[in-house]
Amino acid sequence: MTSEFDLIRKYFTRPTAQTKLGVGDDAALIDIANGHELAISADMLVAGTHFFADTDPYELGWKSLAVNISDMAAMGAEPKWATLAIALPDADETWIAAFADGFFACAEKFKVDLIGGDTTRGSLCISVQIMGQVPSGKALKRDGAKAGDDIWVSGQLGDAALALNHLLSKYPLTDEELKQTLPALLKPQPRVNLGLALRNIAHSAIDISDGLLADLGHILKASKVGAELNMAGIPCSSVLQRHVHEPSVRQMALAGGDDYELCFTAPASRQQQLAEIAQHLDLQLSCIGKICESGGLIIKDTDGNNIEIGKTGFDHFAR
Ligand code: ADP
Ligand code: MG
Repeated sequence: MTSEFDLIRKYFTRPTAQTKLGVGDDAALIDIANGHELAISADMLVAGTHFFADTDPYELGWKSLAVNISDMAAMGAEPKWATLAIALPDADETWIAAFADGFFACAEKFKVDLIGGDTTRGSLCISVQIMGQVPSGKALKRDGAKAGDDIWVSGQLGDAALALNHLLSKYPLTDEELKQTLPALLKPQPRVNLGLALRNIAHSAIDISDGLLADLGHILKASKVGAELNMAGIPCSSVLQRHVHEPSVRQMALAGGDDYELCFTAPASRQQQLAEIAQHLDLQLSCIGKICESGGLIIKDTDGNNIEIGKTGFDHFAR
Protein backbone atom coordinates (compact mmCIF):
# COMPACT_ATOMS: atom_id res chain seq x y z
CA MET A 1 0.00 0.00 0.00
CA THR A 2 1.34 3.38 -1.01
CA SER A 3 0.63 6.12 1.51
CA GLU A 4 0.10 9.79 0.78
CA PHE A 5 3.50 10.45 2.35
CA ASP A 6 5.22 7.85 0.16
CA LEU A 7 3.78 9.58 -2.89
CA ILE A 8 4.94 12.99 -1.72
CA ARG A 9 8.42 11.76 -0.88
CA LYS A 10 8.83 9.67 -4.02
CA TYR A 11 7.34 11.99 -6.62
CA PHE A 12 7.13 15.52 -5.31
CA THR A 13 10.29 15.96 -3.27
CA ARG A 14 13.30 17.08 -5.26
CA PRO A 15 16.30 19.23 -4.30
CA THR A 16 15.60 22.94 -4.13
CA ALA A 17 18.22 25.51 -5.08
CA GLN A 18 16.78 28.77 -3.78
CA THR A 19 14.73 27.77 -0.75
CA LYS A 20 15.56 27.72 2.98
CA LEU A 21 13.14 24.91 3.79
CA GLY A 22 11.18 22.97 1.19
CA VAL A 23 8.82 19.98 1.25
CA GLY A 24 8.52 18.05 4.52
CA ASP A 25 7.63 20.43 7.33
CA ASP A 26 4.38 22.20 8.13
CA ALA A 27 5.37 25.10 5.93
CA ALA A 28 8.17 26.09 3.60
CA LEU A 29 10.54 28.98 4.32
CA ILE A 30 11.80 31.35 1.67
CA ASP A 31 13.97 34.42 1.71
CA ILE A 32 13.20 37.14 -0.73
CA ALA A 33 15.90 39.50 -1.98
CA ASN A 34 16.23 43.01 -0.52
CA GLY A 35 14.36 45.70 -2.40
CA HIS A 36 12.08 43.17 -4.08
CA GLU A 37 8.39 42.42 -3.99
CA LEU A 38 6.87 38.95 -3.89
CA ALA A 39 4.55 38.25 -6.83
CA ILE A 40 1.98 35.52 -6.08
CA SER A 41 -0.60 33.89 -8.28
CA ALA A 42 -2.54 30.62 -8.50
CA ASP A 43 -4.15 28.73 -11.36
CA MET A 44 -6.22 25.59 -11.10
CA LEU A 45 -6.68 22.95 -13.79
CA VAL A 46 -9.81 20.83 -13.48
CA ALA A 47 -10.28 17.60 -15.46
CA GLY A 48 -13.13 18.00 -17.92
CA THR A 49 -12.95 21.79 -17.74
CA HIS A 50 -9.33 22.64 -18.54
CA PHE A 51 -8.13 19.35 -19.97
CA PHE A 52 -9.41 15.96 -21.13
CA ALA A 53 -9.18 13.45 -18.28
CA ASP A 54 -7.08 11.18 -20.51
CA THR A 55 -4.52 13.89 -21.34
CA ASP A 56 -0.96 12.62 -21.35
CA PRO A 57 0.23 13.08 -17.72
CA TYR A 58 3.69 14.38 -18.66
CA GLU A 59 2.20 17.17 -20.75
CA LEU A 60 -0.38 17.90 -18.09
CA GLY A 61 2.39 18.23 -15.49
CA TRP A 62 4.24 20.64 -17.76
CA LYS A 63 1.17 22.71 -18.50
CA SER A 64 0.03 22.91 -14.85
CA LEU A 65 3.21 24.75 -13.97
CA ALA A 66 3.69 26.57 -17.30
CA VAL A 67 0.35 28.40 -17.12
CA ASN A 68 1.29 29.64 -13.66
CA ILE A 69 4.76 30.74 -14.72
CA SER A 70 3.10 32.67 -17.53
CA ASP A 71 1.47 34.91 -14.91
CA MET A 72 4.91 35.71 -13.49
CA ALA A 73 6.11 36.55 -17.01
CA ALA A 74 3.17 38.89 -17.43
CA MET A 75 4.18 40.73 -14.24
CA GLY A 76 7.82 41.01 -15.25
CA ALA A 77 8.61 38.85 -12.22
CA GLU A 78 11.21 36.14 -11.98
CA PRO A 79 9.41 32.87 -11.11
CA LYS A 80 11.02 31.17 -8.10
CA TRP A 81 8.79 28.98 -5.97
CA ALA A 82 5.65 26.90 -6.47
CA THR A 83 3.29 24.82 -4.39
CA LEU A 84 1.20 22.00 -5.84
CA ALA A 85 -2.15 20.91 -4.43
CA ILE A 86 -3.38 17.86 -6.27
CA ALA A 87 -6.46 15.66 -5.99
CA LEU A 88 -5.98 12.20 -7.52
CA PRO A 89 -8.71 9.60 -8.12
CA ASP A 90 -6.25 6.84 -7.17
CA ALA A 91 -2.54 6.26 -6.58
CA ASP A 92 -1.71 5.25 -10.17
CA GLU A 93 2.05 5.52 -9.87
CA THR A 94 2.77 5.30 -13.58
CA TRP A 95 0.51 8.31 -14.07
CA ILE A 96 1.91 10.23 -11.08
CA ALA A 97 5.53 9.57 -12.09
CA ALA A 98 4.91 10.91 -15.60
CA PHE A 99 2.99 13.90 -14.25
CA ALA A 100 5.85 14.71 -11.85
CA ASP A 101 8.42 14.38 -14.65
CA GLY A 102 6.53 16.88 -16.82
CA PHE A 103 6.04 19.24 -13.88
CA PHE A 104 9.72 19.13 -12.93
CA ALA A 105 10.87 19.46 -16.55
CA CYS A 106 9.08 22.80 -16.62
CA ALA A 107 10.35 23.67 -13.11
CA GLU A 108 13.94 23.03 -14.17
CA LYS A 109 13.64 24.96 -17.40
CA PHE A 110 12.33 28.05 -15.58
CA LYS A 111 14.34 27.57 -12.35
CA VAL A 112 11.34 27.12 -10.06
CA ASP A 113 11.56 25.15 -6.77
CA LEU A 114 8.56 23.04 -5.74
CA ILE A 115 8.41 23.86 -2.02
CA GLY A 116 5.17 22.34 -0.77
CA GLY A 117 1.59 21.46 -1.47
CA ASP A 118 -1.15 19.04 -0.61
CA THR A 119 -2.07 15.58 -1.89
CA THR A 120 -5.58 14.20 -1.52
CA ARG A 121 -7.91 11.65 -3.09
CA GLY A 122 -10.63 13.13 -5.28
CA SER A 123 -11.62 13.95 -8.84
CA LEU A 124 -8.51 14.89 -10.76
CA CYS A 125 -7.75 18.54 -10.06
CA ILE A 126 -4.45 20.37 -10.00
CA SER A 127 -3.96 23.67 -8.23
CA VAL A 128 -0.59 25.36 -8.43
CA GLN A 129 0.48 28.49 -6.64
CA ILE A 130 3.45 30.32 -8.08
CA MET A 131 5.64 32.89 -6.36
CA GLY A 132 8.25 35.10 -7.91
CA GLN A 133 10.16 38.25 -7.20
CA VAL A 134 10.41 41.58 -8.91
CA PRO A 135 12.40 44.70 -7.94
CA SER A 136 10.09 46.98 -5.93
CA GLY A 137 7.98 49.19 -8.16
CA LYS A 138 9.06 47.46 -11.40
CA ALA A 139 6.19 45.01 -11.89
CA LEU A 140 4.30 45.20 -15.20
CA LYS A 141 0.68 45.86 -14.37
CA ARG A 142 -2.52 46.15 -16.36
CA ASP A 143 -3.27 49.73 -15.49
CA GLY A 144 -0.39 51.57 -17.16
CA ALA A 145 -1.43 51.74 -20.84
CA LYS A 146 -1.38 55.28 -22.27
CA ALA A 147 -3.08 56.73 -25.35
CA GLY A 148 -0.58 56.55 -28.22
CA ASP A 149 1.10 53.35 -26.94
CA ASP A 150 1.73 50.61 -29.47
CA ILE A 151 0.06 47.29 -28.65
CA TRP A 152 2.29 44.25 -29.02
CA VAL A 153 1.93 40.50 -28.79
CA SER A 154 4.61 37.83 -28.64
CA GLY A 155 4.63 34.63 -30.70
CA GLN A 156 1.58 33.54 -32.68
CA LEU A 157 -2.05 33.33 -31.63
CA GLY A 158 -4.80 30.79 -32.19
CA ASP A 159 -2.97 27.51 -32.68
CA ALA A 160 -3.98 26.13 -29.27
CA ALA A 161 -7.63 26.95 -29.96
CA LEU A 162 -7.41 25.47 -33.44
CA ALA A 163 -6.00 22.19 -32.10
CA LEU A 164 -8.59 22.12 -29.30
CA ASN A 165 -11.44 22.66 -31.77
CA HIS A 166 -10.13 19.78 -33.83
CA LEU A 167 -10.03 17.53 -30.73
CA LEU A 168 -13.60 18.57 -29.91
CA SER A 169 -14.63 17.60 -33.48
CA LYS A 170 -15.65 21.18 -34.13
CA TYR A 171 -13.09 22.04 -36.79
CA PRO A 172 -11.31 19.37 -38.81
CA LEU A 173 -7.55 19.61 -39.43
CA THR A 174 -5.31 17.31 -41.41
CA ASP A 175 -2.92 15.08 -39.44
CA GLU A 176 -0.05 17.35 -40.45
CA GLU A 177 -1.92 20.49 -39.35
CA LEU A 178 -2.77 18.91 -36.02
CA LYS A 179 0.85 17.92 -35.51
CA GLN A 180 1.91 21.52 -36.06
CA THR A 181 -0.69 23.15 -33.79
CA LEU A 182 -0.94 20.63 -30.94
CA PRO A 183 2.26 21.69 -29.12
CA ALA A 184 0.74 25.13 -28.53
CA LEU A 185 -2.15 23.48 -26.66
CA LEU A 186 -0.20 20.81 -24.79
CA LYS A 187 3.14 22.43 -24.06
CA PRO A 188 2.83 26.21 -23.75
CA GLN A 189 6.09 28.16 -23.37
CA PRO A 190 5.76 30.96 -20.82
CA ARG A 191 7.54 34.13 -21.96
CA VAL A 192 9.58 34.75 -18.83
CA ASN A 193 12.62 36.29 -20.52
CA LEU A 194 10.39 38.66 -22.44
CA GLY A 195 8.63 39.74 -19.24
CA LEU A 196 12.00 40.46 -17.61
CA ALA A 197 13.20 42.41 -20.67
CA LEU A 198 10.03 44.54 -20.66
CA ARG A 199 10.41 45.75 -17.05
CA ASN A 200 11.65 49.22 -17.97
CA ILE A 201 9.96 49.38 -21.35
CA ALA A 202 6.31 48.30 -21.26
CA HIS A 203 3.61 50.52 -19.77
CA SER A 204 1.30 47.54 -19.20
CA ALA A 205 1.25 43.79 -19.78
CA ILE A 206 -0.95 40.70 -19.47
CA ASP A 207 -0.62 37.09 -20.54
CA ILE A 208 -3.14 35.78 -23.04
CA SER A 209 -4.89 32.87 -21.37
CA ASP A 210 -8.55 33.58 -22.16
CA GLY A 211 -8.14 35.11 -25.62
CA LEU A 212 -6.47 38.26 -26.97
CA LEU A 213 -9.59 40.41 -26.99
CA ALA A 214 -10.68 39.45 -23.49
CA ASP A 215 -7.22 39.87 -22.01
CA LEU A 216 -6.40 43.10 -23.85
CA GLY A 217 -9.85 44.18 -22.65
CA HIS A 218 -8.57 43.83 -19.06
CA ILE A 219 -5.72 46.24 -19.86
CA LEU A 220 -8.12 48.72 -21.46
CA LYS A 221 -10.48 48.60 -18.51
CA ALA A 222 -7.75 48.91 -15.88
CA SER A 223 -6.03 51.71 -17.82
CA LYS A 224 -9.29 53.48 -18.80
CA VAL A 225 -8.34 53.64 -22.49
CA GLY A 226 -9.51 52.24 -25.84
CA ALA A 227 -7.69 50.43 -28.64
CA GLU A 228 -7.64 49.99 -32.38
CA LEU A 229 -6.22 46.74 -33.78
CA ASN A 230 -5.35 45.74 -37.35
CA MET A 231 -6.50 42.22 -38.16
CA ALA A 232 -3.65 41.89 -40.69
CA GLY A 233 -1.12 42.48 -37.91
CA ILE A 234 -2.32 39.60 -35.71
CA PRO A 235 0.50 37.04 -35.80
CA CYS A 236 -0.69 33.56 -36.83
CA SER A 237 0.97 30.32 -37.87
CA SER A 238 0.93 29.24 -41.50
CA VAL A 239 -1.64 26.58 -40.58
CA LEU A 240 -3.99 29.12 -39.04
CA GLN A 241 -3.48 31.54 -41.93
CA ARG A 242 -4.59 28.83 -44.33
CA HIS A 243 -7.96 28.75 -42.55
CA VAL A 244 -8.31 32.35 -41.37
CA HIS A 245 -10.90 33.23 -44.06
CA GLU A 246 -13.30 31.13 -41.95
CA PRO A 247 -14.91 33.46 -39.39
CA SER A 248 -14.72 30.71 -36.74
CA VAL A 249 -10.96 30.44 -37.21
CA ARG A 250 -10.47 34.20 -37.18
CA GLN A 251 -12.35 34.10 -33.90
CA MET A 252 -9.93 31.46 -32.56
CA ALA A 253 -6.98 33.78 -33.25
CA LEU A 254 -8.69 36.75 -31.62
CA ALA A 255 -10.47 35.08 -28.75
CA GLY A 256 -9.54 31.40 -28.59
CA GLY A 257 -7.38 31.48 -25.50
CA ASP A 258 -4.74 29.11 -24.10
CA ASP A 259 -2.06 31.02 -26.05
CA TYR A 260 0.12 32.01 -23.08
CA GLU A 261 1.76 34.73 -25.13
CA LEU A 262 2.24 38.22 -23.67
CA CYS A 263 0.23 41.23 -24.79
CA PHE A 264 1.81 44.54 -23.75
CA THR A 265 1.80 48.22 -24.56
CA ALA A 266 4.81 50.50 -25.00
CA PRO A 267 5.46 53.99 -26.34
CA ALA A 268 6.37 54.19 -30.04
CA SER A 269 9.84 55.44 -29.04
CA ARG A 270 10.60 51.86 -27.93
CA GLN A 271 10.12 50.21 -31.33
CA GLN A 272 13.82 49.85 -32.12
CA GLN A 273 14.58 48.47 -28.66
CA LEU A 274 11.74 45.96 -28.96
CA ALA A 275 13.04 44.82 -32.35
CA GLU A 276 16.39 44.15 -30.68
CA ILE A 277 14.74 42.23 -27.85
CA ALA A 278 12.83 40.11 -30.38
CA GLN A 279 16.07 39.28 -32.14
CA HIS A 280 17.97 38.60 -28.94
CA LEU A 281 15.24 36.29 -27.57
CA ASP A 282 14.56 34.77 -30.99
CA LEU A 283 10.88 35.48 -30.39
CA GLN A 284 8.43 37.09 -32.78
CA LEU A 285 7.07 40.42 -31.48
CA SER A 286 4.26 41.98 -33.50
CA CYS A 287 2.79 45.44 -33.21
CA ILE A 288 -0.94 44.85 -33.65
CA GLY A 289 -2.43 48.28 -33.02
CA LYS A 290 -2.55 51.40 -30.90
CA ILE A 291 -4.02 52.53 -27.60
CA CYS A 292 -6.55 55.39 -27.97
CA GLU A 293 -8.01 57.82 -25.41
CA SER A 294 -11.32 55.95 -25.44
CA GLY A 295 -13.76 54.23 -27.80
CA GLY A 296 -13.59 50.62 -26.65
CA LEU A 297 -11.91 47.95 -28.73
CA ILE A 298 -12.07 48.20 -32.52
CA ILE A 299 -10.56 45.82 -35.08
CA LYS A 300 -10.00 46.91 -38.68
CA ASP A 301 -9.67 44.65 -41.73
CA THR A 302 -7.23 45.47 -44.55
CA ASP A 303 -9.83 47.74 -46.21
CA GLY A 304 -10.20 49.78 -43.03
CA ASN A 305 -13.65 48.37 -42.21
CA ASN A 306 -14.55 47.38 -38.67
CA ILE A 307 -14.60 43.64 -38.01
CA GLU A 308 -17.59 42.40 -36.06
CA ILE A 309 -16.39 40.99 -32.73
CA GLY A 310 -18.30 38.01 -31.36
CA LYS A 311 -17.26 36.46 -28.08
CA THR A 312 -14.07 38.11 -26.86
CA GLY A 313 -12.78 35.14 -24.93
CA PHE A 314 -13.37 32.34 -22.51
CA ASP A 315 -15.34 32.88 -19.30
CA HIS A 316 -16.30 30.00 -17.01
CA PHE A 317 -19.55 31.60 -15.91
CA ALA A 318 -20.68 33.80 -18.81
CA ARG A 319 -23.58 32.42 -20.77
P1 ADP B 1 0.13 18.84 6.69
O1 ADP B 1 -0.57 17.63 7.19
O2 ADP B 1 0.93 19.57 7.70
O3 ADP B 1 -0.75 19.72 5.85
P2 ADP B 1 0.98 17.29 4.55
O4 ADP B 1 1.01 15.93 5.09
O5 ADP B 1 -0.18 17.70 3.73
O6 ADP B 1 1.25 18.31 5.72
O7 ADP B 1 2.28 17.50 3.67
C1 ADP B 1 3.55 17.13 4.12
C2 ADP B 1 4.58 17.93 3.38
O8 ADP B 1 4.52 17.60 2.00
C3 ADP B 1 4.36 19.43 3.45
O9 ADP B 1 5.63 20.06 3.41
C4 ADP B 1 3.61 19.75 2.19
O10 ADP B 1 3.82 21.07 1.78
C5 ADP B 1 4.25 18.75 1.24
N1 ADP B 1 3.38 18.32 0.12
C6 ADP B 1 2.20 17.67 0.17
N2 ADP B 1 1.72 17.39 -1.05
C7 ADP B 1 2.62 17.88 -1.93
C8 ADP B 1 2.71 17.95 -3.35
N3 ADP B 1 1.77 17.42 -4.13
N4 ADP B 1 3.78 18.55 -3.88
C9 ADP B 1 4.74 19.09 -3.09
N5 ADP B 1 4.73 19.06 -1.77
C10 ADP B 1 3.69 18.47 -1.18
MG1 MG C 1 -1.73 19.04 4.08
